[in-house]
Amino acid sequence: MVCSLKKIIDSHIHLDQYTEDEIEKIIGDLTLNDVQCTGLISVSSDLNSCRANLTLAKNYKQVKPAFGFHPEQALPSDSEIEALMSWIEKNKDAMVAIGEIGLPYYLRKVTNKHMRFPFEGYVELLDQFLKLAKAWNKPVILHAVYDDAHIAIDLLEKHSIHKAHFHWFKGDAITTQRMINNGYTISVTPDVLYEKEIQTLVKQYPLEQLMVETDGPWPFKDKFTDQMTHPKMIHDSVAMIAELKGVSLSDSYRKLYRNTVRFYELDS
Ligand SMILES: [Zn+2]
Repeated sequence: MVCSLKKIIDSHIHLDQYTEDEIEKIIGDLTLNDVQCTGLISVSSDLNSCRANLTLAKNYKQVKPAFGFHPEQALPSDSEIEALMSWIEKNKDAMVAIGEIGLPYYLRKVTNKHMRFPFEGYVELLDQFLKLAKAWNKPVILHAVYDDAHIAIDLLEKHSIHKAHFHWFKGDAITTQRMINNGYTISVTPDVLYEKEIQTLVKQYPLEQLMVETDGPWPFKDKFTDQMTHPKMIHDSVAMIAELKGVSLSDSYRKLYRNTVRFYELDS
């Protein structure tokens, strides 16, 4: 069947951040012929977000939840961390990965230079999450860009974690090469259509270690301006990746799909 060649998985979406109507629309669209999305890896930002994603996964079989704490926000207190960790431990069998976790690159950039930024606290929290990932044998979904990527890679190496997915990764060629050598995967968003930096990254990164995502509801520009971010946008990314890698469109679909199924151990 021709249409089965166009199967996609959104490897990184914040489904819990959409409104109820939007979620129903997205889930309803997944099986449509022009969408063909078989799965959504829905990542969590904090404890409430973990709870919401668990509920979404119980309600919709396509939703595969990951539990974690998004680093681009204020550091949680010790008791908040404890509550989050024990909730995740209790529900760990329901998750496909620990995520979204990582380091606060953008938050640090916009913080007033005269204010002390508690960066070590974020590094410690990431270290704690990685320890659990290793103990539970779960993949990790990382938000760690530019200079922060090296710190995250050091920690991954310390814990001997190989199953790491750097979502919407951005960084220099040396960092990128280090990630390729370590066997990590990255995913690209629809901005691969118009961002030179991402196009260069796709050319450098092996197709076998690539996945696609939306990071929805994060909005996109260019042809996606004023559109609600939807997994179907990934079809444009798959086509662009085929062009950048010099492979056929069907190979691009097949490999990106297979990489994601394999990485998250999903039923294909
Ligand atoms: Zn995200």
